[in-house]
Amino acid sequence: MDGAKWERFDHVIIAAHSDQALSMLEDPTPQEREILNAIPYQPNRTTMHTDVSVLPENKKAWASWNCLIPKQAGGRATLTYSMNRLQGLDALEQFCVSLNMDERLNAQRIIKSMDYEHPVYTKATAKAQQRWGEISGKGRTHFCGAYWGYGFHEDGAKSGLAVCRTFGLEL
Ligand SMILES: Cc1cc2nc3c(=O)[nH]c(=O)nc-3n(C[C@H](O)[C@H](O)[C@H](O)COP(=O)(O)OP(=O)(O)OC[C@H]3O[C@@H](n4cnc5c(N)ncnc54)[C@H](O)[C@@H]3O)c2cc1C
Repeated sequence: MDGAKWERFDHVIIAAHSDQALSMLEDPTPQEREILNAIPYQPNRTTMHTDVSVLPENKKAWASWNCLIPKQAGGRATLTYSMNRLQGLDALEQFCVSLNMDERLNAQRIIKSMDYEHPVYTKATAKAQQRWGEISGKGRTHFCGAYWGYGFHEDGAKSGLAVCRTFGLEL
């Protein structure tokens, strides 16, 4: 890295996504490769907007998380967060955040689109998550992140705590 200074540390804690963590390792072990690869991430287009047409028709059914499951077979399920509900916003407009829905949205009502990644869960993922102890702390490299759980904030915190415990630390 340009301008970076090499420093030595006794341990490394990698608090990034599984694929990012793997790409940071110069010489990953077969276990690190196998386990981290089994918990993949997928990109999701994430858009903030005020187009309420993607929320349920009946306003009484508006929830913090609103899933839209297309009627046609094979259609991709999408999700819209009601930010006003989630964050208790007292706003005149209804602010929404939708995943992978840009083509359905009224372009005039889009505020900003960004690309984020979320973990993708399969049976292999569940097995790989149980093998955390096989790689974390081995070779003085520790792994944490929401991908060790269900992908929520709490899972990130929980996995960070698990790493702390290997150093004998508790909150
Ligand atoms: C649109 C959206 C909505 C969400 N809503 C909710 C919600 O309502 N409730 C909830 O609980 N969770 C929600 N989540 C999930 C939550 O944001 C994640 O679970 C949490 O942020 C993941 O934490 P993490 O520490 O695993 O990863 P991140 O927060 O992604 O942190 C990984 C860090 O690694 C850094 N990094 C990557 N590569 C490198 C590198 N080479 N060198 C150094 N650093 C690097 C990144 O910059 C980043 O800061 C949402 C996520 C998204 C995208």
